[in-house]
Amino acid sequence: MKALVKAAAEPGLWLDDRPIPQIGPDDVLIKINKTGICGADIHIYAWDEWAQRTVPVPMVVGHEYAGEIVEIGTNVRRLVVGQRVSGEGHVIGKDSRAARGGRFHLDPETKVIGVNIPGAFAEYLRLPAFNVVPLPETIDDEIGAILDPLGNAVHTALSFDLIGEDVLVTGAGPIGIMSAAVARHVGARHVVITDVNPHRLALASAIVDVVPVDISREDVRSVQERLGMNEGVDVGLEMSGAPAAFDQMVENMVVGGIIAMLGIPARPATVDWAKVVFKMLTVKGIYGREMFETWHKMLAMLESGLDVRKVIAHRLPIADFKTGFEVMRMGNCGKIVLDWSE
Ligand code: NAD
Ligand code: ZN
Repeated sequence: MKALVKAAAEPGLWLDDRPIPQIGPDDVLIKINKTGICGADIHIYAWDEWAQRTVPVPMVVGHEYAGEIVEIGTNVRRLVVGQRVSGEGHVIGKDSRAARGGRFHLDPETKVIGVNIPGAFAEYLRLPAFNVVPLPETIDDEIGAILDPLGNAVHTALSFDLIGEDVLVTGAGPIGIMSAAVARHVGARHVVITDVNPHRLALASAIVDVVPVDISREDVRSVQERLGMNEGVDVGLEMSGAPAAFDQMVENMVVGGIIAMLGIPARPATVDWAKVVFKMLTVKGIYGREMFETWHKMLAMLESGLDVRKVIAHRLPIADFKTGFEVMRMGNCGKIVLDWSE
């Protein structure tokens, strides 16, 4: 089968020929139709320190996907051949206290497809049946291919009650924009989104009813005053990984405010904890997606009007994957979806 492989411990990815995976009794084989490029794939392509520490070579990469089941293991009852599916990329253990307590996404034995174990940038993917999420008719393959990052956005945005609240999203990357869309969908009052990249802010305001703020030209406080949210932001969604963005968020939060933090700082950063203390802020770290409540709520919201399609900026055949990675690396775009059927 055709597959995008990290074939050597150096920058790059290679479109290669690999054997079709053999499935076990608890697995399914998925024929991949569409895949999304994630920021993590860019790190793997560039072969940075994190990738060198984390990714075994050679390995098929990729973890955002939609396709169709073509084979099921002998123990699998819930699924059938022909079903259109996406799925959770975290392959978990089931023995830890977290897993046995139903918090599967916090299992310490977790392996991530396309990061630690063979992934979805291929014509076929082997996946535990447990991880498979069937797609309703109304959700097509390109939306199916971005459910993984949408799930990050949903998990973060639904961490706290947003109805009637004023929300600050820091970072207008694909996940930040989608979290703003979720905040709107569930009934936030004002949604302010910040970035340092005007292209990203333009994309955000073209897609969602948000107030974009280029923090290199304007400060959040003056926007807050303009919108009449004088006491500060009620809920913060940190979606940039930039320490400066977190500082600004703390600065602009209402006393007693709550912050959900998905963005991953590249290195340890200092925080003015005195401000967190005196403002009595709650900061909640967010990892992955809840298995499988995030998936349930995400599909339900998509079926009831949540629209994130415009976050997809480019659609390319897999043969043009290098263009996709290059565009993504430049950081001015939304999601890029690769088509495996062409
Ligand atoms: P992205 O890199 O595409 O977007 C981040 C955005 O933040 C960029 O547009 C960038 O210009 C902007 N930014 C940089 N400095 C800023 C500042 N000071 N203020 C405001 N914005 C600033 O990332 P993405 O794919 O949208 O993902 C968002 C974040 O979530 C990343 O940090 C990513 O690593 C992280 N992530 C975490 C998880 C998890 O499970 N916790 C999962 C997926 C992604
Ligand atoms: Zn991802």
